[in-house]
Amino acid sequence: MRSWPAPDPTSLPGNGALPGRGPRVRLHDTAAGALVPVGPDSGTASLYVCGITPYDATHLGHANTYVAFDLLGRAWRDAGLDVRYVQNVTDVDDPLLERAEATGVDWRELAHSQVELFREDMSALSVVPPERYLGVVEAVDLVSGAVRELLAAGAAYRVPGTGGGPDGDVYFPVAADPSFGSVGGYDRATMLALSAERGGDPQRPGKRDPLDPLLWRVQRPGEPAWEAGELGRGRPGWHIECTAIALEHLGMPVDVQGGGSDLVFPHHEMGAAHAHLLRPASRPFARAYAHSGMVALDGEKMSKSKGNLVLVSRLRAAGVDPAVVRLAIVSHHWRSDWEWTDEVLRQARERFARWSAAVGQPSGPSAEGLLAAVRERLADDLDAPGAVAAVDAWVQAQSATGGDDTAAPELVRRTVTALLGVSLR
Ligand code: ZN
Repeated sequence: MRSWPAPDPTSLPGNGALPGRGPRVRLHDTAAGALVPVGPDSGTASLYVCGITPYDATHLGHANTYVAFDLLGRAWRDAGLDVRYVQNVTDVDDPLLERAEATGVDWRELAHSQVELFREDMSALSVVPPERYLGVVEAVDLVSGAVRELLAAGAAYRVPGTGGGPDGDVYFPVAADPSFGSVGGYDRATMLALSAERGGDPQRPGKRDPLDPLLWRVQRPGEPAWEAGELGRGRPGWHIECTAIALEHLGMPVDVQGGGSDLVFPHHEMGAAHAHLLRPASRPFARAYAHSGMVALDGEKMSKSKGNLVLVSRLRAAGVDPAVVRLAIVSHHWRSDWEWTDEVLRQARERFARWSAAVGQPSGPSAEGLLAAVRERLADDLDAPGAVAAVDAWVQAQSATGGDDTAAPELVRRTVTALLGVSLR
């Protein structure tokens, strides 16, 4: 699948846009519950971030996640690393099919139109595109191959049909992975509750454990399906899709597996367990599991099911500069839950105007310390609000006392563009 246009390469770190180099990046790892260094000392860092299910346009919650991992990619590049980044699109899944059915739109058309909007939003937000951007539809053979491998290894089983459904849906026994539960660290009661809430089917009869996730769903009437040898016609489960794509295109272990905090369980827990059975010798699936916070509106988490979405495309259509939206996002810590309000947008607009005016001045105080401070803040668990505060301080100092460094405004502009991804006007 085509991704989206990349920002001007000369505006990115690692391309001579900034003097010197950033420090090694440390990030909060959900599994360790602590900050850990992420990425190698030199060479290539690998990143897998779970993509959208394209049945509704990009909302601020998505934007928050993809901007967070874009900050990571930029900090890695600034530290001298190459970045290998893969993202999927869950372009066939229950919510997409249900929405298509409810609105009378072909599921392929719905997915296509929403992926197109997502691309435009990501590009407008200056998010560096993944090197590989893959829809499940184009990876079905890969995913069904992984399911067959699990069956052959005794790490999958078939469940008889219930309620008139066909026999043969394939499930993964969570008991097969001794480290199951180590990503999220949840107790069993919490796992059961989250499974029911987030796409699992703990009530389904015939499973060995209520937590066991679906690997392959045999075709039901009217549902899209693909031939998959001994699995029969059907479609893949959600978790195995990401595992199969990540193993094929990044290998294992992945340096960082990322996504929103609502993906910790079951999605990332199950994805890791699948990988541990597919490639036991290369455990763990990921060296770090990183989870971004949720964005709320009117006191409630923004979600498609609640319908309280602030869409990036709608903000753009209303004339909001996407760079202002990005500045609003990076003014919040990537792991914190925060609320989108008119006040947040107003503050971001004002800050953007102040910063843009400041970098348009002929001189200012030296900006070398600012560059070092922004680098240091971002390497410390992507503390973008700390970096924003450092830029605020420079802008304030310039307005209070001027400064005679004629190279400083341009260095500030480049720092903000390269490391925060905010292009000042
Ligand atoms: Zn995923």
